[in-house]
Amino acid sequence: MLINQLLDLKGSIRVICRVRPMMSSDALTAATSSSSILEIPSPDTVILAPDRTERIVYDFDRVIGPSEGQEEVFNEAKGLVDSVAEGYNVCMLFFGPTGSGKTYTMAGRPGDLGMAANALAHLFRLAREVDSKQQVRVSASILEIHNEQINDLLLAQNQQQPKLEIKEGSAGVEVPGLTIKPMAGMQEAEAIMQRGRAARGRGGPEEATRSHLVLTIYVTCTHRSTEATSSGKLHLVDLAGSERLAKGAVTSERTKEVQAVHKSLTVLGDVIQAIQQKSSHVPFRNSKLTRLLEDSIGFNSRTMVVLTCSPASEDASETRSTLEFGLKAR
Ligand code: ADP
Ligand code: MG
Repeated sequence: MLINQLLDLKGSIRVICRVRPMMSSDALTAATSSSSILEIPSPDTVILAPDRTERIVYDFDRVIGPSEGQEEVFNEAKGLVDSVAEGYNVCMLFFGPTGSGKTYTMAGRPGDLGMAANALAHLFRLAREVDSKQQVRVSASILEIHNEQINDLLLAQNQQQPKLEIKEGSAGVEVPGLTIKPMAGMQEAEAIMQRGRAARGRGGPEEATRSHLVLTIYVTCTHRSTEATSSGKLHLVDLAGSERLAKGAVTSERTKEVQAVHKSLTVLGDVIQAIQQKSSHVPFRNSKLTRLLEDSIGFNSRTMVVLTCSPASEDASETRSTLEFGLKAR
C-alpha cells in the first residue's frame, strides 16, 4: 500500500529509463568511436553527452544501466503488479526508437524473461499465496494497433479478422469480440505470448516497428466466503518505434503508417503531459491507443513509462528525443 500512497503524492506516472549495452552492430555502423554517450552517475540520473561540449542531465524515478538485468527492471514494477491484484488498472508503456530494447525489455528472450513473463509469474505466485481465501483468475488478450486499426493477435490462423472497435462498458473500456484467453499458469501464459509474437511477425518486421502491441492481463479476485470481487488489468504496450523517418522515397502505404505512428505517439505524449499537469482536459479521444488506455492511465490508475535508449553515438538524436519524451511525464 505504501508504494501507492507514495505514487499519489508525486503524480501517478512513474518514469524509468533503461540504457541497453553497446552492441557489435553499433560499433560497425558508427562512423566515429563506439564509446557510450550516456553516463549514469546515480541510480536516478542519466547524462547525455553527445559530444565534448554538451552535457544534458535528466532525472527519472530510476535509471537502469547496461549491466543491469531484467530482474532489476521488474523490481521497479513489482508494486504496480501488486496493485493490479488489488483491483487497480495499470499501464506500462515501452517507449523508444527501433533497436533500443523495447521488445527485449517487455517480452524478453527464451531463458531471459522480460517484464510480461515476470509480471505473470508474480501474479500466479500471488494467486497461490492467497488461494485459501481468494480465487484469483488470470486471463490475457493481445492486440495490435496498426494504421489506427485494431487486430486481434490471438485469433486462430483460419479465423477471419473481425472489425474491432473500442467501447466504454460498465466495467470500463472494452473491445467487444476481442479474444481473451484464460490461463492457469506460466506454461499456458508462455504459449499465449508465443502465439501473439507469431501473429505480429506475420505482417513482417517492418510492420511490427510501425504498430503498437498491447498485451493486457486481466486479474479477477473473488473472496471465497464473502464473494466480494475486485478486477484489475495490466496493459503492457510495446509501442511503435519512436524514430523520425527520413522523408522521401517512401510509398504512400508507408507514409500512412508513419503518419499514424507519429500522430498516436504525439497524442500519447499530450495525454501524459495533461495528466501530470492535472489538466481538466485530457485528449484521450485523439487516438485509438489512448482511447484503449483511457481507464488505465491517470485517475485512479497507475502508469509506468519505460524509456529504452541506445548508448551509441550514431543514435544520439533519437536517444535525446526519447529522454525528452520522458520529461513530459515528470
Ligand atoms: P526494439 O524492440 O526497441 O526495436 P529490441 O528489443 O528488438 O529493440 O532490441 C534490439 C536488440 O538489442 C535485440 O537484439 C535485443 O536482444 C538487444 N537488446 C536490447 N536491450 C538489451 C539489453 N538491455 N541487454 C541485452 N541486449 C539487449
Ligand atoms: Mg521491437
